[in-house]
Amino acid sequence: MPDFSIGVDLGGTNLRIAAVSGEGQLLEKVTLGTKLALGRDHVINEMCDAIQGLSGKYEAAGRFLGAGIGVPGLIDLQTGMMRKAVNLPGWENYPVRAEIERRLGLAKNGARVVLENDARVAALGEQWLGAARGVANMAVLTLGTGIGGGIVLGGKIWHGMNGMAGEFGHVTIEPEGHPCGCGNRGCAEQYASASAIVRMAREAIASGQAPLLAKAASSDAEFGAKSIYNLAMQGDEPARRIFRSFGRYLGLLLAGLVNVLNLEMYVIGGGASSAWDAFAPSMFEELRQRSVVYAGTAPADPLKSESLGKHEVASAHSESRGERKTIITRALLGSDAGLYGAARVAVLAV
Ligand SMILES: [Zn+2]
Repeated sequence: MPDFSIGVDLGGTNLRIAAVSGEGQLLEKVTLGTKLALGRDHVINEMCDAIQGLSGKYEAAGRFLGAGIGVPGLIDLQTGMMRKAVNLPGWENYPVRAEIERRLGLAKNGARVVLENDARVAALGEQWLGAARGVANMAVLTLGTGIGGGIVLGGKIWHGMNGMAGEFGHVTIEPEGHPCGCGNRGCAEQYASASAIVRMAREAIASGQAPLLAKAASSDAEFGAKSIYNLAMQGDEPARRIFRSFGRYLGLLLAGLVNVLNLEMYVIGGGASSAWDAFAPSMFEELRQRSVVYAGTAPADPLKSESLGKHEVASAHSESRGERKTIITRALLGSDAGLYGAARVAVLAV
C-alpha cells in the first residue's frame, strides 16, 4: 500500500471525502450531506470524523500525508482562514485550518491540512488526472452557478500574491451589463454560467418570442439549463440563440485569458460544460476573432479533439506539441476533479 492523502470537497449540497494514493488511485470515497443549517461546528465535526475514519483505515498499510480541503470561498493561505464565504455562514474569519488540525491531532505525525478554494483544487485535479494530464501549464474554468477558475503553472496552483488569482468569473465582459454579487457589473459569470443560461431564457420568454421555452418553463418544475439545452438540441431557435450568445461571451473571456497567459491548455468544466455541443462553435469563432494569440496557435479543427476519448486527447495533445497549439477542451473528471485536486494539494504541501 502506497502513501496516501485525503481530499475533501465541501459543497453546498454534499460533503465528499476520498482517500487517494500518491499515484492518484482512488482508495475509497464517502459522500455525506452537507448540513450547513446545523452550523459550522457540526460540518467540521462530520468532516473530521470522516477524515479520521478513512485515514485510520488506510494508515495500517501506508503513510498518511495529510488532508486537502476544497471550500467555496476566498482563503487566506497564510492563516488558513476564510476571507469570504458567501455560502458558508459563520465560516468567515474563523481559523478553519487550525481547528481541523487540532481536532485531527495531526501535529504529532507531521501530516498537514491544506485549505484551498474549490475551483483551484478542481483545476489541479484536471491537471493531475484529468483532461490536462501531463500538461504542466493550464487553466480551468468551472461553469456552474457562477464561474470558478484556477491556474496551474508547473504542476502547482498559481495563487497570486494572496490566493486570489483565478477569479475569471469576475472579469468584465459587458461594461454596462448585469450587476454581479461582487459589486461590479457585466462580470463573465453573469453571461457564461448555468444561471446566465436560465436568465437569458427568462428574458427570451418575457419578449414573447420563445413559445417553446415559455411552455417548458411553465410545465417543467425543474426548468433549468438542462431543459434549455434539450430544446436547443431539438432545434428550437430561441434556445439555440441563448447558447450561441453564451458561447460568444465565453469566447470573449477565453480570448482575454489566452492573450494574457498563453497557456498550453484551457479546460472547461462544471455543469454548464455539458452543453458543449450547443455553445462550442460560437465560442471558438469568437476566440479566433478576438485573440491574436489564439488565431496564431489554434489547432486546425479545435472541435475535433472533443469526440476523442481520454487517451486520444492526451496523444493528440502530445502530437500537436511540436507545433505548440492552444488546446481548449472539456473537463474529464466531473465533480471528482475537486476531490482529486484536494488530495493532491495535501501531497504537494508535504
Ligand atoms: Zn462579479
